Amino acid sequence: MHRKILGFCAFTFLLGVLCGKIVFAKEAKKEKETTLAENEIEDSDPAGSLEPGIEEDESLGALTSAGKESGEDEAWKLTLVNKWNPMEDGYKPVVEEIENHYYFDTRAAGYLKEMLADGRKAGLDFWVCSAYRTIEKQTELFEDKVRRVTAETGLTGEAAREKAGTEVAYPGTSEHNLGLAVDIVARDYQILDEKQARTEEARWLKENCWKYGFILRYPTGKTETTGIIFEPWHYRYVGEKAAKEIMEQGICLEEYLENR
Ligand SMILES: [Zn+2]
Repeated sequence: MHRKILGFCAFTFLLGVLCGKIVFAKEAKKEKETTLAENEIEDSDPAGSLEPGIEEDESLGALTSAGKESGEDEAWKLTLVNKWNPMEDGYKPVVEEIENHYYFDTRAAGYLKEMLADGRKAGLDFWVCSAYRTIEKQTELFEDKVRRVTAETGLTGEAAREKAGTEVAYPGTSEHNLGLAVDIVARDYQILDEKQARTEEARWLKENCWKYGFILRYPTGKTETTGIIFEPWHYRYVGEKAAKEIMEQGICLEEYLENR
């Protein structure tokens, strides 16, 4: 008798658990459907997903995976950063190492590696001497330059900062902070001056960079538009389509963006 009661209790308990499970599973499914529906609505509003507080890389990833128009996906490649157009406050690219502890925006790192590898296969001896720089590093470089200007010229305050700004970009106004710029020189001529342009490495880069989506960012004769002197070592990723047009037409990024 006692055993019978126990058996009945166990049976009732099991039944209860099973029913509970079925109900729970149904609820869970319903919840999942609701979440999916909400996501669909959010995805159709890209402006909403770019609200402050959300990491830009995440929202860009979301846009990519949602299969948005390529136009939106391409925008990051053409971000203009110069002394008149500072970077968005707090922007931090997702980067990965290229070589020698130099980092580059993950979305373009593969193209840079490919360009370097192909050039090296062709017998060139590239030396990467700068790539992604954090805002903190840029601030350090800039303040260091200000101190040197003061020591060399006696200029102080705003005058010293202005002079320093002609040689080292103010934090947030350097493409290196964006993670899409790289400085490449010849290993046997590592000086950042115009003579760099005469090296085999610089010639090859100028000729072939567009194939990998890169441009010679500060060409000769464009200083007034770019705000930067001729820099035969500084390359910027903009994507193959824009790179081809810019290099073919001999224009700079500012001119390209203006005429689009
Ligand atoms: Zn540079």
